[in-house]
Amino acid sequence: MMEDVRVLLASVYSPSIEILSTQSVGGGSINQTLLLTLSNGEKVFLKHNDHPPQDFFKREAAGLRLLGQSATGPRVPRPLAWQSRFLIMEFIQEQAPSADFYPDFGRALADMHRRTQDRYGLDHDNHIGSTPQKNTLEKDGLTFFRDHRLRFQQKLARDRGRLPKSLDLKLDSLFKKLDTILDLTGEQPALVHGDLWSGNYFCDASQRACIFDPAVHFGLRETDLAMMELFGQPPQTFYKAYQEAFPSPFGYSERREIYNLYHLLNHVNLFGSSYLSSVESTVNRFIR
Ligand code: ADP
Repeated sequence: MMEDVRVLLASVYSPSIEILSTQSVGGGSINQTLLLTLSNGEKVFLKHNDHPPQDFFKREAAGLRLLGQSATGPRVPRPLAWQSRFLIMEFIQEQAPSADFYPDFGRALADMHRRTQDRYGLDHDNHIGSTPQKNTLEKDGLTFFRDHRLRFQQKLARDRGRLPKSLDLKLDSLFKKLDTILDLTGEQPALVHGDLWSGNYFCDASQRACIFDPAVHFGLRETDLAMMELFGQPPQTFYKAYQEAFPSPFGYSERREIYNLYHLLNHVNLFGSSYLSSVESTVNRFIR
């Protein structure tokens, strides 16, 4: 594979480019990741996978490019080249965050979320982790989130034999009354990262937030805020700055639970039934 990587790098830089060293980078949950130091002094980041889903890295590159178009949004690594089994992108050095990092991140994310289009979804499907993500275009945010996010993951879990019948039926009841829980009045399709847990962002050397490994689409902007709270939580300074820049309507804490159900169901599909109890306790809160 490294010779294929070198050949692609030659098309980006120069035919004589060499890979001087490779260094493993931890933290990935789906792919293998390496820092490559090149003979021209550049450092690049390589993600690879021997058996990725079809178009996996092509879609990831498209997602990074789309997010990267927002000049005042968070920083996004620039994709350099890709083929079916790997993606090469700009390497970004991580640094410990200072006190200003989180409020700046909140404002930058709000700016990114202001990018809109006329419908929810995207002109192509992509992945969340290695799970397919449907981006079927819809006028209505509730229909988009219920059918192409929640019901899609529900069906996947059912088809994989991972969803007990009783929980499957409870999910059906919840989804039928979702319009009474998710009031999306005034919301517009927002450019979202789509998978913004704490492992998919960090602070760069100039204290700017850098986001990567996206599941990009035009969706409900609070889904990014909710995912940031699912495994860990950024400090209140982040939320305060975001809310000042782009206030959330009343009732976010209820919506957050529904939004994170998507990720919990995806975790059932990706990592197994240990996430079922979290799915069940969320569902029970709403169908009592
Ligand atoms: P996976 O798709 O396997 O989850 P990630 O894209 O999340 O892999 O990358 C794994 C880790 O590599 C991240 O948690 C982050 O620390 C680091 N990383 C990701 N992209 C870059 C980059 N462009 N430059 C430097 N480090 C990166």
